[in-house]
Amino acid sequence: MIYCDYQATTPLAPEAREEMLRWLDGPAGQGFGNPHSPHRLGRMAAAAVELARERVAALCPPGGSVVFTGSATEALNLALRGSTAPGDIRPVAVSAIEHAAVLDTAHALGGPVNVLTVDAAGMVAEEPDLVPDTRLVAVMQVNNEIGTIQPVEAIAAHAKRIGALFVCDAVQGAGKVAPPANAEMIAISAHKLYGPKGIGALWVREGVELAPIVTGGGQEMGLRSGTLSPALCAGFGMAAKLAFEQQEADARHVETLWKRAGELFSGWTLNGSAEMRWHGNLNLRRDGLDVARLMADVRDVAFSAGSACASGSGRPSHVLSAIGLDRKQAKSSIRLGFGRYSTLAEIEEAAEKINAAAQKQE
Ligand code: PLP
Repeated sequence: MIYCDYQATTPLAPEAREEMLRWLDGPAGQGFGNPHSPHRLGRMAAAAVELARERVAALCPPGGSVVFTGSATEALNLALRGSTAPGDIRPVAVSAIEHAAVLDTAHALGGPVNVLTVDAAGMVAEEPDLVPDTRLVAVMQVNNEIGTIQPVEAIAAHAKRIGALFVCDAVQGAGKVAPPANAEMIAISAHKLYGPKGIGALWVREGVELAPIVTGGGQEMGLRSGTLSPALCAGFGMAAKLAFEQQEADARHVETLWKRAGELFSGWTLNGSAEMRWHGNLNLRRDGLDVARLMADVRDVAFSAGSACASGSGRPSHVLSAIGLDRKQAKSSIRLGFGRYSTLAEIEEAAEKINAAAQKQE
């Protein structure tokens, strides 16, 4: 199976897996301690968690702290819900192309939600229209469907001028592009940067006040109760360390793949900006393409339909609609994602199979 779905999840880095193993030890080992216990086993596990925290923090700006969560979805819920005082119904603003973790959560807060439009290239304006009493603005760093890289620092600066907090969903950008230095909160997911599934993080700038959304034992600075998994933290930490150290090499590799993919898929139209884009994302469309049939015909390449939303409801993607595609165009789109472990030979073979199956439909 050729894996071309790096925006859905990334393979676990072997180094991250290795780092996790000792914290999965059974009774014979010393790695199963509760990181919140005061004895030696607990302190060893706690040290592993703190090392992981430092490594994840290295992907974030200075001047804040990392709170581990069960996913980036939970981190974004903590950011949005945790910064909303009871009864505060001042407006929040979110981009039209946010992930459901932001869009649905913003709508659940109870106040007005202003949706910031994107242009045909999939870009939010650097100074989007914000109503004067907006209290929070959330714009993602890299879009998960079309890969567009948003001008998040300019938007954060604009939000700050009217006194709003800026939350950045950096799930698809962390470890690939520089973090927005002026955000108040940044959400990251381990499994999008070659770490394990089941763990995410919210970076919170010093001085930002949050209320917990998960209460209990008071772990994670009182912001997220529940016993941490040292194995997941250690895997996340190692993945973050690698992403930090290999950022340039990873980007160079992706650039090589992108250039070749551009040649191989010359008969397709790219959805979203080619320039302001993470080049490990290829969202393509072809007039009249039946994507379900294509996916059935190309079973040994893992890629994604560009049109369906995550729930598999078959509704056209809100992102493709936001850039102006009609239903038919959105439904004839596919998403291919590649990264650190993809090879040129794999991209070539995937393209050959996808192109042959698409041509068969003509
Ligand atoms: N935000 C973006 C941009 C994503 O791509 C995803 C995952 O698809 C999420 C948030 C949610 O991340 P998690 O799977 O860690 O909950």
